[in-house]
Amino acid sequence: MTVIESDSEGKPLTGYTIRQAWVASENGYDAVDVRIENGRITAIAPQLDPVGTVVDGRDKLLLPGFVNAHTHSSELWQRGMIPPYPLELWLAKLYDFTPADAEQVYLSAIGTAVETLLSGGTTVVDHLTIMPGQELETIGAAVKGYREAGIRAFVGPLIQDQSLPSSIPSGGQPSAYEPYARTTQETLDLMAEAIAQFHRPDEGIYIMMAPTGPQLCSDELFAGCNELSDRHALCRHAHLLESKAQQLLAEEQYGCTAVEYLKRLDFLSPRTSLAHCVWLNESDTQLLAVTKSTVVHNPLSNLRLGSGIAPILKYRQAGVNVAIGCDGSASNDSQDLLEAIKIGSILHNVTDFEYRNWISPRQAVKMAALGGATGLGMQDEIGSLEVGKQADLVLYDLTSLSLLPRTDPIGLLVLGRPVQVVSSAWVAGRQVIADGNLTTVDVNHLRQELFARSQWEFDHDSPTLEALETRYRRVMGLGE
Ligand SMILES: [Zn+2]
Repeated sequence: MTVIESDSEGKPLTGYTIRQAWVASENGYDAVDVRIENGRITAIAPQLDPVGTVVDGRDKLLLPGFVNAHTHSSELWQRGMIPPYPLELWLAKLYDFTPADAEQVYLSAIGTAVETLLSGGTTVVDHLTIMPGQELETIGAAVKGYREAGIRAFVGPLIQDQSLPSSIPSGGQPSAYEPYARTTQETLDLMAEAIAQFHRPDEGIYIMMAPTGPQLCSDELFAGCNELSDRHALCRHAHLLESKAQQLLAEEQYGCTAVEYLKRLDFLSPRTSLAHCVWLNESDTQLLAVTKSTVVHNPLSNLRLGSGIAPILKYRQAGVNVAIGCDGSASNDSQDLLEAIKIGSILHNVTDFEYRNWISPRQAVKMAALGGATGLGMQDEIGSLEVGKQADLVLYDLTSLSLLPRTDPIGLLVLGRPVQVVSSAWVAGRQVIADGNLTTVDVNHLRQELFARSQWEFDHDSPTLEALETRYRRVMGLGE
């Protein structure tokens, strides 16, 4: 790398000039120079005078960074561990084996950031499981991990005010449930404190209001979330109609669909992103379009948990913004965004014979970048290669074996199986990957920590699952 440290008058220069990288043009690709200064893209042209650190972009593809628009970082500790179960029973198992210390949360945030960055992501949305009694410590640990990794992070503490069994439909046999561990007001007070301590948009750390979903949250909790989100201009995030059981529960509890219910609660907005959205009807889709809410597509998790195939083509045709997420590592079980983008686009070729509606590789990349940014109200700041936007950029090595031979770079990046193809990445103009390696995280040390703090673990008995399985099978019509 050449570093040009001063201009012709001897004034110090900082930033980067990426030279002769391929960028997507209308019908093909152009080779351009891209200048990054003070965290932003300041010039894009066929030839620029180099300033700052010069990065060779030849035989490389430059794309805006993707958004991993829904995950739960601490599930990294359970990846590969939970056998095939549907969402409600899988959740029961997950609840019985949650990480117990803040150091683990810190490490899993770093692990999530590293895998996201190495698969083309520059922003992560962490719907963060918080440890009872150590809520602020949990949030602080994840934030510390993201700051160190240098990824842009939206952290939405996973809050609810109803206990897990209430999320399974009663099937006409209502029962009383234990109250949740925290009151609604205690949860809202906790969130106010989390915002005060950790919400730092200028530093790339954003707290978001992220109730688990209508199946576990009261009207009062939603109202409090809306109030805090309006007061501090925060994004809103929730799970929505991930499973058939949640659709049944909505009918039982609200007498309307869960989307109509969220509309009534005034939760839907241009800064609201909703994970999964598998079981929506046509008028629900219209409500999302009208309120400019975003659907976060988590195709791998939906397959793994048998939740269903979200009707993404219908959403796109109705004008609903769609983003892509990996979902937590216990239901995926990786954080490879390129994999999620591939499956999340070609999956829909089996749902619709009208191939003209299928998602092209270029459209898939746009969903993952600009679609993700839009769901976070960041479409004017990140998500595309434009002068003035923040420099959240990724450079892919087109000489990597998995991206050869030379055909259509974006086509092969999306439809192939790219292995270690990210050469450089920047978040807000800070280079976090150089020559294929993280500049911010010692990945070998991370590997050692993950190894040392875990053990070979196979299937366990799960008391929560045993308590719920009979009712689940009855409600879903599965027999004994
Ligand atoms: Zn989730």
